[in-house]
Amino acid sequence: MKMKLLSVANARSCLRIGKCTRLPKGYYVPAASYAGGRTFGDVMEDVSKIRNIGISAHIDSGKTTLTERLLFYTGKLAEMHEVKGKDAVGAKMDFMELERQRGITIQSAATYVLWQGHNINIIDTPGHIDFTVEVERALRVLDGAVLVLCGVGGVQSQTLTVNRQMKRYNIPCLAFVNKLDRGGANPYRVLNQLRSKLKHNAALLHLPVGLEKEHEGIIDVIERKAVFFDGPMGLNVVEEEIPPDMRAQTEDTRQELIERVADADESLADLFLEEKTPTEKEIHDAIRRTCLKRTFTPVMLGSALKNKGVQPLLDAVVRYLPNPTEVENFCIDNSVEGKEEKVVMNPARTSDNPFIGLAFKLEAGRFGQLTYMRCYQGALNRGDTIFNTRTGKKVRVPRLGRMNADELEDLSMTYAGDISALFGIDCASGDTFVTKGNTHLSMESMHVPEPVISMSIKPVDKKSNENFSKGISRFTKEDPTFRVYWDEENKETIASGMGELHLDIYAQRLEREFNAKCILGKPRVAFIETLTNKVEFEHLHKKQTGGRGEYAKVIGSVEPLPPQENTKIIFQDETMGTAIPKNYIAAIEKGFREACLKGELSGFKASGVMIRLTDGMAHQVDSSDWAFQQAGEAAMRKVMEDGLWQMLEPVMDVEVNFPAEFQGEVLASLNKRDSIMMGQDANDEFVSLFAQTPLNQMFGYMTELRAKTQGRGEFTMEYSRYCPMKPEIEEQLIEAHRREQEQQNKNLKRKKN
Ligand code: GDP
Ligand code: MG
Repeated sequence: MKMKLLSVANARSCLRIGKCTRLPKGYYVPAASYAGGRTFGDVMEDVSKIRNIGISAHIDSGKTTLTERLLFYTGKLAEMHEVKGKDAVGAKMDFMELERQRGITIQSAATYVLWQGHNINIIDTPGHIDFTVEVERALRVLDGAVLVLCGVGGVQSQTLTVNRQMKRYNIPCLAFVNKLDRGGANPYRVLNQLRSKLKHNAALLHLPVGLEKEHEGIIDVIERKAVFFDGPMGLNVVEEEIPPDMRAQTEDTRQELIERVADADESLADLFLEEKTPTEKEIHDAIRRTCLKRTFTPVMLGSALKNKGVQPLLDAVVRYLPNPTEVENFCIDNSVEGKEEKVVMNPARTSDNPFIGLAFKLEAGRFGQLTYMRCYQGALNRGDTIFNTRTGKKVRVPRLGRMNADELEDLSMTYAGDISALFGIDCASGDTFVTKGNTHLSMESMHVPEPVISMSIKPVDKKSNENFSKGISRFTKEDPTFRVYWDEENKETIASGMGELHLDIYAQRLEREFNAKCILGKPRVAFIETLTNKVEFEHLHKKQTGGRGEYAKVIGSVEPLPPQENTKIIFQDETMGTAIPKNYIAAIEKGFREACLKGELSGFKASGVMIRLTDGMAHQVDSSDWAFQQAGEAAMRKVMEDGLWQMLEPVMDVEVNFPAEFQGEVLASLNKRDSIMMGQDANDEFVSLFAQTPLNQMFGYMTELRAKTQGRGEFTMEYSRYCPMKPEIEEQLIEAHRREQEQQNKNLKRKKN
């Protein structure tokens, strides 16, 4: 092979493992010349050359560092920056100041790169448990994922969570064991944990050449070669013979790999039985087939920080992960009411099929309002008019682009399988967009958990009030699990979300991005109150105090919704004729909903009710929106007094993972916390217990679990549903609320006197 070539495309393919045996030491192509030497605005016509992938990991495993390396090697990033440390510029994927300080990635950003003529869209998924909505949203638009594990920490609590999410969305994944340069790194232990804790049929594709300080490179066990990463930033991929002292281990590992894959793949198993030696291609193909089916997980090794093993990982993404046509995606046809029909979308990259896209992420930044969208069917052109199926509104697409970290590149068109960014489109994340005449189609609704923790939140000073509102309005639009309301009784704003950190992060973002420093109150579990019997209402709101009066009458009933809908409030207008002019209905609904913000028993939200408005009365002069809202609110208050209400609490799906010897202690600890055991999964070493436990009982569990398992237990939890609580706890909450109200009344009286 000639070495003097300097055309970018050739240079890149030359750097690729398998294409050339060796580059001269010290030879490298500066990344900048990649970016300059090639047009990245090409629309890839061939769908088999597209990969939409995510990178998921436990916090601090090196996801951001790895993403940055991926950008660098694919020629998109001229300089590399360290996430933390000397370099003030910070990592390119972490846009927000806050993220830099915390060193974690909160917001997912979609970026794309080119590798081996393949267009890889990378969605940087957040790793922390409190941001599961962001992770789920990202996973929904992905076709495959890289699970990054720390070579020292191995499978950690958050790894369990992302693993569970990948399972839910059936996402094929590769594992990358990172940080092999760190003291204590042990990829074999991590592999065992992948098998024992995550129950993956996993095997190593690589062996490390040296560990910790001596970590130099990897051995590719399939192609039987040692691979080193020389030159600045490890740009030179250099292949060598396997060191003699590692040959036997390589053969053993290769054999183990083939056996593991053959366990899940018939045609490889057949070769195995016939005692034929599979070719390298046959092994790769079998890995691809099993990886797509999630019956086998290839494990790769390296160190993102020390630039080792990243290019082979990119090769594996292209080689093993699916293209958009290899994943079936559905939308729902709502044209017949009550009969939702699943329709498979056509992934062909052509404008012949009607366009369907899902807005999965909103971002307000220096380019203005950006909406990230995955196109699932057909094509979208700049200038097209599309319809939001949730709101029915039509929007024009003024500008279309795609992101390379924080840089924007204009596009004139995107096709099925692409991820792109739209400008200035008003929508919420999770909205489906279609072309005219197709508004009956929508993508499956996303799994959005209910917020389970709430805190009071307020700006430290009055002058930041306006900024505070702006920030809140943006965050609540972006994140459906972050909700905010004004508590009239206690005169405070209440924010609720998926956990303490979730709310804490928003408070910090309010300060940094909106200049509105906030104070947060103590976290409270978001209990709810629900109705258990049907209650009729008839309420007349009437006031005559000189001038124009107030008059509004509402009649109807409130009844319980079934348990699976106990977090919903449904309002139905069943009035006939003109007793209540239609223009007042919205105000009535508002009144009912307002009253539901505070239940009678304990002051928590009331929900799980169906409100039917059947009749009422209006006055030509004295009726108004205000009067009808008052009437609605008072009617609901009355329903609260008259009805039989019950308190519910959020129950979590808990998964605890620990060495088998601690089974007794862990079981006891879960029982003590009122858990219902749902099952277990065990092998020689580790046990996974699955339980359902009230969130209210989970405070301090991490500390207890650590203490009971000599620090070796991990757990994750995820919202499951709302359930009735133990009577004694319900009584305590009601009693506490009663005392609180007494105190408030006393204070009021004192003020008046
Ligand atoms: P993330 O939270 O998963 O995005 O992890 P980051 O990429 O922010 O990395 C967390 C920390 O680990 C940072 O200080 C990185 O410099 C460091 N780090 C990342 N990859 C490696 C690696 O391969 N080796 C070592 N020693 N440190 C690493
Ligand atoms: Mg990060």
